[in-house]
Amino acid sequence: MTNKLLPTSIVGSLPKPSWLAQPETLWSPWKLEGSELREGKYDAMRAAVLEQTHRGIDIISDGEQSRQHFVTTFIEHLSGVDFDKRETVRIRDRYDASVPSVVGAVEREKPVFVQDAAFLRSCTDRQIKWTLPGPMTMVDTLYDAHYRSREKLAWEFATILNQEAKELEAAGVDIIQFDEPAFNVFFDEVADWGVAALERACQGLKAETVVHICFGYGIKANNDWKATLGTQWRHYEKSFPLLQRSSIDTVSLESHHSNVPLEVVELVRGKKVMLGAIDVANAEIETPDEVAGTLRAALEYVDADKLIPSTNCGMAPFPRDVALAKLSALSAGASILREELVGAHV
Ligand code: ZN
Repeated sequence: MTNKLLPTSIVGSLPKPSWLAQPETLWSPWKLEGSELREGKYDAMRAAVLEQTHRGIDIISDGEQSRQHFVTTFIEHLSGVDFDKRETVRIRDRYDASVPSVVGAVEREKPVFVQDAAFLRSCTDRQIKWTLPGPMTMVDTLYDAHYRSREKLAWEFATILNQEAKELEAAGVDIIQFDEPAFNVFFDEVADWGVAALERACQGLKAETVVHICFGYGIKANNDWKATLGTQWRHYEKSFPLLQRSSIDTVSLESHHSNVPLEVVELVRGKKVMLGAIDVANAEIETPDEVAGTLRAALEYVDADKLIPSTNCGMAPFPRDVALAKLSALSAGASILREELVGAHV
């Protein structure tokens, strides 16, 4: 475990190499198949670990090199979901998408990412973080012709996620992150069953747990939505008080270049905070001073020993050189603030 002050981490995806999938495209299909695909993913993971390490990232993730989509790749491995029976639904109340249907009881018949996580474990001695979709976001990415209840389906997914999370932990994963962008949309459901389902997914884990809640990738549907949100994005005010009282260890939010008022961080006082100090909707590289400035401002609301400098969201849509330069900016910015803080305590 790292005891370093301000350990840096990324939220999720890094660009995939062009030989594995079409770059600068979200959710682009694999270019390889079968055993070549497995080798390709592992080579891409090796590169992701190497780049994160060289660029000073302390908590290492796979950069989502093993996933095509942050939700559906997990669901593909479950029974009870028919990928050929597609229906159009509105995702996160924002855009229509053709999605698979739940046609029977959902079950995880075999591990989904455990082998990939074990491989990541073998690539580094640093702490590793693995990401799974959150139950509510999974429910929101499907058409449910079986349970006919978002809450019931979420509870089934929470049970499945807990099985997977426990095996990821056994494979050496130190931190398990659940992506729940749906928490910034369905506020009543978050209070009714969303946080409870997330806690069910984390039940009995010794690994640290993170919930990542954001305003989405820098894609047009999300950017258009953000343009309607006004100058103060107070969405986190709904979920954070509930999460502050929950068993989840860490809350990940977007901050840099967003209209999220920093004082919302106070609402999860006592939790660790993964603060987005890197914009994923803009290819301009942050300067280390800008990153340090964003992090420094947050210290009014989170204790320094609980602050984890991070990105706002995933970086898959960027050209590789942009994403990698942003990793360097993140660690350089964190290092400026770390030196200030250590100096202040001598
Ligand atoms: Zn995100």
